[in-house]
Formats: sequence, C-alpha cells, structure tokens
Amino acid sequence: MEFRLAERMNNLKASEIREILKLTENPEIISFAGGLPAPELFPVEKLKEITIQILENDGKAALQYSTTEGYIPLRKIIAEERMKPAGVNVSYENILIINGSQQGLDFSGKIFLDKDDVVICESPSYLGAINAFKAYMPKFVEVPMDDDGMIIEELEKALEANPKAKLIYTIPDFQNPTGKTLSVERRKRLVELAEKYNVPIIEDNPYGELRYEGDRLPAIKSFDTKGLVVYLGTFSKTFCPGYRLGWICASPELLSKYIMVKQGADLQASSISQREAALFMEKYKLDEHINKIKKIYRRRRDLMIETIKKEFPETVKYTYPSGGLFTWISLPEGYDSAEILIKALKEKVAFVPGGSFFPNGGHPNHFRLNYSNMPEEKIVEGIRRLGRVLRNLD
Ligand code: PMP
Repeated sequence: MEFRLAERMNNLKASEIREILKLTENPEIISFAGGLPAPELFPVEKLKEITIQILENDGKAALQYSTTEGYIPLRKIIAEERMKPAGVNVSYENILIINGSQQGLDFSGKIFLDKDDVVICESPSYLGAINAFKAYMPKFVEVPMDDDGMIIEELEKALEANPKAKLIYTIPDFQNPTGKTLSVERRKRLVELAEKYNVPIIEDNPYGELRYEGDRLPAIKSFDTKGLVVYLGTFSKTFCPGYRLGWICASPELLSKYIMVKQGADLQASSISQREAALFMEKYKLDEHINKIKKIYRRRRDLMIETIKKEFPETVKYTYPSGGLFTWISLPEGYDSAEILIKALKEKVAFVPGGSFFPNGGHPNHFRLNYSNMPEEKIVEGIRRLGRVLRNLD
C-alpha cells in the first residue's frame, strides 16, 4: 500500500543504527549503547509498600482522571526540592507534570516550530531531541563545543546569522552525548544573548543532579528574569524511568501553552504514578536515593576511564565527565564509528556511533559510551574487547 502520509514523515526515517542496536538485547552482548539507569538501584521493595498504601488510602483518586497540570503535592515537591537547589525560586504553579522530559521536547517543537524555522543546538546534541524536533521540519544550526560546553562566541555568530531563530536547545549538565558541562559564566552569557535576540532557551537537564565531584551549578533558568527559559526536568535518571514522570518549569505565560498542548496530547500524566512518586519522596528522601546512585555510577565511571586509559590506543581521546552517564570517544579523522560498531558487535560489545548525534550529518569519527548500566566486571571486559577492536583497525 502507498499511504498518503503527512509531509513531516519524510523527515522521520527508521535509523539503521537503531536496527543494529536491537542486537544488543542479546544478553551475551556487553552494551554501552543505551542511556539506561542501573535497574538494581530501583527501590522496588519500597515502591511495593507505597503502591499498596496508595491503593488502600487513596485508591479512587489514584485511578481516576485528574487535572492536566498534575498532582499538586508532586508539583510542590518539585518546586521546593528539585528547582530551588538549582537556584530557581518558583512555586508549584510554574510546574507542569509531563510524561518524561521527552514529552517536553515534542511539545516544545509543537509550540515553537513551523517548517524551516531554525533550532540552534549544541554540536553534537541529544538524538531524541533531534528526532522530536524533526517532526516539525525545522533547520538545525549546530554550535561547536569545547570542554566548557557550547562556545558562546559561536552561538552569537549563529544568532547573528539567524536572528529569527525560534529556539536555542541545550543540555547544560553532563551533556548527552559528550558528558560536557556549560560553565556558569557561559550560562549567564547565554541568557543575555537569548534576551538580546529574543529567542527562548529549552534547558534540558536530566543529569544535573548526578554530579560526582564539585558543587551543583545553578540552572540556566536561575539567570532568567524575562521568562525566556523553559526548564525540562525528569525523574528518569534519579528515580525510575518506567514511571515516565518529568516536568516543565516555565513562566505562567509559556506554561499555559504547554498545558494546552498537554491536554490535546494525552490530557494528563498518570494519576497513580504521580501519587506513588510523591508519596515515595515524602516518606524517603529522594536526595538519599540519589546519593546511593551517585556512589555506584562514580565507581563505574572511574573504572571505565581507567580501563580506557589502559586499553585504547593513545590516539583515541575521551571526555572525563564529572557526572551523568556518558563519555564521548573521538578517533582521528577518517575513521567511521558505524563500521567499527559492526566489528565491535562481532566481539560482543556495543556503543552508539557518534554520527547520529549531529543533526546535519558528518562527524563519523566519534562514539558514545554509557557507564551506568553495566556492572563493574562487564565494564572492564567490554572496554578490553573494544580496545582490541580499536587496536586492530587499519
Ligand atoms: N533529554 C536528554 C538529554 C536525555 O538524555 C533523555 C533520556 N535519555 C531525555 C531527555 C528523555 O528522558 P525522559 O523522557 O525519560 O525524561
């Protein structure tokens, strides 16, 4: 059948890489490909008890429809315990509960982007955001990064060349895929530029709370005085992704647009999930849970980096992230990480080739490694295997 699909579907192609990565479901493969949290850290027993408590005490409301904005106690917890420590002083009225921050990316596309509008993003950027925005047929303008994140002079050039850009999209903390963090000075400059050119910023921050050294940096939103920053938060990496709970923190004017779009998309986030998450956070401190996660991920990061140092050829560069889930590997020009993946899979080890993270293509000589999901012995063994593959490239 030839279906008369919407034009936007021309932009959405099933990725070959995704098909190849389906092979990583084979348990024999050591996969550094996904961005999955460690499942052994999910508080299953505590959540069993919480679920029963909710159903016994509040079952009818938990199973009923509810408001689009979300469950007020959860929104209050987010404003007080998650936004304030990032320097963002807001009330629950600035928070909309969504189904993971991924939904916030789709909504941002829906709210801001018409065909051929410009989205300015980091080069490279998060694959899931690129795909979500692509459905709205924008053009992507990529801004190069250095160790301190997006280079602000380059951003200014991009804004000068595209003064009608619709969005600046950034992942400021332990970026997916590079693990890099935008410096505080640059956060301030970024807001100044967004104000000068009147371009909203989408600040996508799933990893800021997973910091292994140093103090948490203030969110970009903390420097926002004009309501130009839309902050996307999520419980996926600090709690459990299966709940699909995230949030949007924005000025009332912009939040009202997101609420309308949420209503049209799916009316609301799950009533029972929101209650379960809120009760968990009232009974047990989420910060304590995050501390446990950080201890384990910090060890895994250290082990991965130490093993990379020993096993990878010296020409291979890697980032040393102070948090988050990923390190970014750069090979000399001329290598193609998609071809290397085929060789790596023969050795039963997987990663995501870097090309997918560049919306305008190119840059095949990089790849992304995740260190949160595999236990320690598999990290060492997987990096050894990958080292063998890299040493035998011609
Ligand atoms: N943004 C970034 C940068 C991510 O890495 C992810 C998850 N991999 C998401 C958004 C989406 O996460 P979720 O929908 O689970 O909150």
